[in-house]
Amino acid sequence: MRRNPRYDILFEPVRIGPVTTRNRFFQVPHASSTGHELPNIRTGLRSIRAEGGWGVVCTGYCSIHPSSDGAPHRYSRLWDDGDVRNLSLMTDAVHEHGALAGVELYYGSSQGRNLYTRETVLSPSGVPVNTTSGVPLQHSRAMDKSEIRSLRGWQVDAAKRAKSAGFDIIYVYCGMRFGPYQFLSRHTNHRSDEYGGSLENRVRLLREMIEDTKDAVGDTCAVAVRFSTDELMGPLGMQWEDEGMAALELVGELPDLWDLKTFGLEDSSNSRYSEEGYQEPYVTHAKTLTSKPVVGVGRFTSPDSMVSQISRGVLDLIGAARPSIADPFLPNKIESGREDEIRECIGCNICYSCFHESVPIRCTQNPTMGEEWRRGWHPEKIAAKKSEDSVLVVGGGPAGLEAARALGQRGYSVILAEAGEELGGRLLTESRLPGLSEWIRVRDWRVDQINRLPNVEVYLDSRLNEDHIMEFAFPRVVLATGSTWSTALADRRNASFKIEPVVNILTPDDIFGEVQISGTVLIYDYDHYYLASCLAEQLALDGLSVIYVTPADRVSNWSEFTHDQWYAQKKLLDLGCRILTGRYVPSFDGEVVRTECKYTAQVDEIHVDSLLVVGARTPNLELYEQLLLRDEELKDAGVSTLSRIGDCDVPGAVVHAVYSGHRCAQEFDEGLA
Ligand code: ADP
Ligand code: SF4
Repeated sequence: MRRNPRYDILFEPVRIGPVTTRNRFFQVPHASSTGHELPNIRTGLRSIRAEGGWGVVCTGYCSIHPSSDGAPHRYSRLWDDGDVRNLSLMTDAVHEHGALAGVELYYGSSQGRNLYTRETVLSPSGVPVNTTSGVPLQHSRAMDKSEIRSLRGWQVDAAKRAKSAGFDIIYVYCGMRFGPYQFLSRHTNHRSDEYGGSLENRVRLLREMIEDTKDAVGDTCAVAVRFSTDELMGPLGMQWEDEGMAALELVGELPDLWDLKTFGLEDSSNSRYSEEGYQEPYVTHAKTLTSKPVVGVGRFTSPDSMVSQISRGVLDLIGAARPSIADPFLPNKIESGREDEIRECIGCNICYSCFHESVPIRCTQNPTMGEEWRRGWHPEKIAAKKSEDSVLVVGGGPAGLEAARALGQRGYSVILAEAGEELGGRLLTESRLPGLSEWIRVRDWRVDQINRLPNVEVYLDSRLNEDHIMEFAFPRVVLATGSTWSTALADRRNASFKIEPVVNILTPDDIFGEVQISGTVLIYDYDHYYLASCLAEQLALDGLSVIYVTPADRVSNWSEFTHDQWYAQKKLLDLGCRILTGRYVPSFDGEVVRTECKYTAQVDEIHVDSLLVVGARTPNLELYEQLLLRDEELKDAGVSTLSRIGDCDVPGAVVHAVYSGHRCAQEFDEGLA
């Protein structure tokens, strides 16, 4: 197929200083939680984007000197020649696929704590280190002039190492309150020398670092500046329309490229609270302030939105972190007229959570992300089938859909049987909750792919029992029957325990089903992810009086890692929900909920109309267990393997179900004679 001429503009080459990118698709720097410790995984997950057609592929943040380490998170570094060798694995692989390689050099200042190197943290004015995560307060030391000269030298040394590692684009990082940004912002720079005071003085270090870097490597490498245009804190931080634009204008012509994005809560914003293109207000007019190319982000997955950004003069290059993670082959799909096959990012930020949890990046939509080297998985290719066995997949949620799709891609003859009238499993109901509409893309992409595979047949309205499975007599059976939310409560042992059946106790399955509730509902959340707060939001919007109780100290505690915790808590407060944190629910008698303080053990009683428990789930194993009981009959019917995947194996998040389905397909032939 051929590219739609409407998208030609996206494939124009763009000159960036001394180098030229083959098109406008730019994988901007993003954390991958691999760093110098896992160079092969890093190489795999970066170079796959080059193979998929991105014109530029960048590292994540890369430290220039031991006085700025990224611990406890994984970070890249260019401190010595060993690091050069380590990173050249990536540049070689990126170049092999015709893309430019970029490196995001950074100096963290008081945004870091130097937990690994134990070096003194240096900053413009000796401000406290970043304490938003609740770490004990510790100050950085104000840099004297010789230390500022040293910092400039470290940037130059790292830039030279970057050049010898093969990088084409070398960054000066002036954002996220790192090094030069702390000098730039009047909120963190209280100096009285020529580096403090007026904006011209505060921008001095940035100017010097750009000039130094250009002098050192600018003959063959482009020098880019990543700049946080707005800290989204109003007058308490940098604002685009205030000093953001003014600062950019002062040094607008110095670098070869501007990479613009916001900083703060809306940086990598979760789709619960933002839409595609959400950063535009914070980069608008940038191109009137510089003649140099501008790259920006906004979770772009639609080629029409990308074209609009360029033709309206907002951006020159389409920056992407998450859309390139969810679909490394996004550019190639547009190039070959297959834009309807793009696996669109759902904005869930599971990828981001991996940075916080210090594990290599994972993605809900793309189960191969982070597994390119370790398991040899590829987002577009998969080994051909190794037998003529036909496969019966039972259950069309994320796990069953992905297994059926990938087995079909391998060439197996597959039947996917789903009890409901539609495919999608939990995605069908959950994506109807406030803010989760993009999650249905997990189903939509897979259903579309399955519809293109003549060897995969779908049976809807087909709740299979043991007899049906015997009748099918397929040699390979995969159960993906999901899980059921439980009414079990949890107490201070952090254990969930079943209670005697009582009236008015509900689970999310009841809310998604036929059960109608009214009056006062108490939601007990010990799942700690998005579902309880989404349900609270929905029920409050439906007019119920909502009380949210959790043993954690915040609403949707784990969602801190996916960038929506703050919004979830704010939303419930705005909607007038009562929030009780640090409390267990040890009992309920159908009318009265007892809540117990996890610190003092003090018990309170609350009268409610219903208790909604969002806690544990139990795998739907009835079918599996019945089949095991009829082991011999199964064998006689010709069923040689029976496996279970997704939530019916171990209940988890959608990312785990998709991964489980994909792994089933990848390893389908293993262990067979
Ligand atoms: P997962 O996240 O593991 O994919 P889901 O709960 O989202 O799990 O999906 C499980 C799907 O399996 C649901 O759509 C459900 O209707 C379907 N299902 C459960 N039991 C059967 C069965 N016996 N026959 C066919 N489909 C089933
Ligand atoms: Fe997008 Fe979620 Fe994948 Fe991240 S994990 S790239 S937000 S789909």
